[in-house]
Amino acid sequence: MIPCPRYGETMKRFFDIDEKQLQYETCDEHGQFFDAGESTLWAESQYL
Ligand SMILES: [Zn+2]
Repeated sequence: MIPCPRYGETMKRFFDIDEKQLQYETCDEHGQFFDAGESTLWAESQYL
């Protein structure tokens, strides 16, 4: 489990519905944070 980059509280982990290999964490207060390696994959997919 990855802690929130802001305050280090535990975040909820989700898997993207369309991209099963894509994971991201959501903090109730600070929004969504993509995993380091997977964020690159996500960013590139936006330009296709
Ligand atoms: Zn947070």
